[in-house]
Amino acid sequence: MTYLVDSHCHLASLSLQGKAGDSLEQIIARAQSCQVSHFLSIACTLDEFRDMSRQLEPYPFVYYSCGIHPLNLEEAGEWQEDELIACLNSDKVIALGETGLDYHYAPESRRAQLDSFARQINVAVSLNKPLIVHAREAKDDTLSLLRSEQARECGGVIHCFTDTIDMARKCLDLGFYISFTGIATFRGSDNVREVVRYVPLDRMMVETDCPYLAPIPVRGVENEPAFVRYVLKFIADFKGVSEEQLAAISSHNFEELYKIRLCTPQRLECAYSDYKIAGIANKPLERS
Ligand SMILES: [Zn+2]
Ligand SMILES: [Zn+2]
Repeated sequence: MTYLVDSHCHLASLSLQGKAGDSLEQIIARAQSCQVSHFLSIACTLDEFRDMSRQLEPYPFVYYSCGIHPLNLEEAGEWQEDELIACLNSDKVIALGETGLDYHYAPESRRAQLDSFARQINVAVSLNKPLIVHAREAKDDTLSLLRSEQARECGGVIHCFTDTIDMARKCLDLGFYISFTGIATFRGSDNVREVVRYVPLDRMMVETDCPYLAPIPVRGVENEPAFVRYVLKFIADFKGVSEEQLAAISSHNFEELYKIRLCTPQRLECAYSDYKIAGIANKPLERS
């Protein structure tokens, strides 16, 4: 089976207190035993980014993203462009985000969210780092800021897409990718599945957004990167392609957007031997 990337996960936010109290090493090894070979771990504040990059430093196949999430503005406090730029200044930091707008959970902070999002788009454009955009119940403002701040120049992805086909079409027109989580598998998500049907394969990615949003059939437990395979399988079946094809496509799209080459399985072998996971790599994926 081809390798697969979990294109959006919060590895530093896993409780590590799941049923088995697994360590991060075990969770990563479990993902890799399911051929989930690479990870893009997201930070939602600059402080979280600094902690996360220290914690994940030993893992050669984990990439990072750094940004200020619209729901973390208070916690993030005042930030300056040069601090954000300093965090982004590494080959392992392949994207700016997640940033964006969330009027579902925080309509009262709309002004501050707009200001923060616009400033982050400007940084992304100036550094040519793709944006990871979180957009919830904020379709018009998201589109108008992406347009007015020239986000097309750096590109990006609308992650955990739950909006309409019209929104998807306009984001695709801006050159953005669309990424789907386990929400696509939920019973009440016919609207998301319509968008899955609409988005062309060469513009979509799959992600867990773990520790949130565990897909069916593992809904209710803490989500983890191995479970991206359930999202992959569901969407592959839905689009009428094989899991292998969709894994290859999603990984290829990831490489195109972030302008990187994921390790080939052979090169990954080298990374594995640098990072000794012997003994736990073959632990099977538990189903609940
Ligand atoms: Zn998000
Ligand atoms: Zn996220």
